[in-house]
Amino acid sequence: MLEFKHFYIDFAKSDFTCPHCKKIHDDTELKYFDRINKNKSWITKVNCECGKPFKLTVNYKGDFETFK
Ligand SMILES: [Zn+2]
Repeated sequence: MLEFKHFYIDFAKSDFTCPHCKKIHDDTELKYFDRINKNKSWITKVNCECGKPFKLTVNYKGDFETFK
């Protein structure tokens, strides 16, 4: 867990974009990353301010990826 967080902070971006409204979200507190980490499917749902939820995951490079 700690090793992975180290990896994440060094190599990954902490922001991701809503696929619906293109709003940029910033996960500087690692709130979503923690949620993904605890979830066995590696996917979490984000409720955007535009009212449409989207899915968020982390790819093999440690970057956030969003999809509808
Ligand atoms: Zn949105």
